Amino acid sequence: HAKASGRDCVKRFDWKLKQALLDKVELIKDINKALKNDEFFLVYQPIVDREGKALKFEALIRWNHPEKGLISPDEFISAAEESGLIVDIGGWVIQEAKAALSKLQVARGPDVQIGVNVSPLQLLNRREGADVFLSSLITGSGELNRSADEKNGLVVEITENLLMEMDERTRQVLMDFRKNGIQVALDDFGTGYSSLAYIMNYDIDFLKIDRSFVQTLSPESSSSSLCEAIINMAHKLKIMVVAEGVETKQQADLLLQYGCDFLQGYYFAKPLRLEEALLYPIQKEI
Ligand code: C2E
Ligand code: MG
Ligand code: MG
Ligand code: MG
Repeated sequence: HAKASGRDCVKRFDWKLKQALLDKVELIKDINKALKNDEFFLVYQPIVDREGKALKFEALIRWNHPEKGLISPDEFISAAEESGLIVDIGGWVIQEAKAALSKLQVARGPDVQIGVNVSPLQLLNRREGADVFLSSLITGSGELNRSADEKNGLVVEITENLLMEMDERTRQVLMDFRKNGIQVALDDFGTGYSSLAYIMNYDIDFLKIDRSFVQTLSPESSSSSLCEAIINMAHKLKIMVVAEGVETKQQADLLLQYGCDFLQGYYFAKPLRLEEALLYPIQKEI
């Protein structure tokens, strides 16, 4: 008996595994088609400063699948990374975000910035190389090596895990970004395995506190000590802090009290289509 059901188990497992693989193959084919058929679009989530000014946005990808409808990045980014298609998607994202940036700057002023999520594979892509990637990020006059004070308007968001794997080459790529006025944000801070020492070794402009800490924020919570400590430490290192996933006034108030520089979340706005982002109030009441 045990043997028979054991065999059944193995069979079921195999079938599931096979199905998962087939699903992934299909997903990758669909991603390829999506790029050709223009099925991706970007939405832009406002990020407000301590005064409630909304001059920063994060670009987030969406997929309008012809049969399956709207698909969120959590459902396809990892498949895109495994297949290498993330390099093409990422290239499209950068071009699209740059076009949006110049429209937002015309509508809202020259200080507007857009954060773009970048996959590790894009940074160290063998196909194109770091230089091509860097020049794809350059806006405005289009020359490389503008001064670092001259902000380019793009902020590259990378995740902590990527930083963990950082070697000398990655470090060089990030330094080249900053030399060209492209700022760097460390995304999902607190969820990875990196120690605080890492952020001292790399030049980073912004640190984004992961929303899991923000969402469990209340005056007596352990998250509140953690957020406060992260903010103080970042400021000692001259790094600015963005809190992600702010959904309530209480969370916003606490974060401001701890000295947080920027707030992002549904409490202020959901990610918006470009037309809505252009019209989003420049000054919000906090
Ligand atoms: P992320 O970079 O950490 O982006 C923040 C995520 O939090 C977004 O999810 C955003 O919609 C969501 N969010 C913002 N405010 C709130 C809030 O108040 N409450 C809650 N519950 N969620 C909030 P989204 O758009 O589904 O993106 C998920 C992840 O997919 C991103 O996390 C990023 O890692 C990745 N991603 C998105 N767009 C791109 C892209 O163009 N390229 C790459 N490589 N990855 C991307
Ligand atoms: Mg991000
Ligand atoms: Mg994040
Ligand atoms: Mg993320």
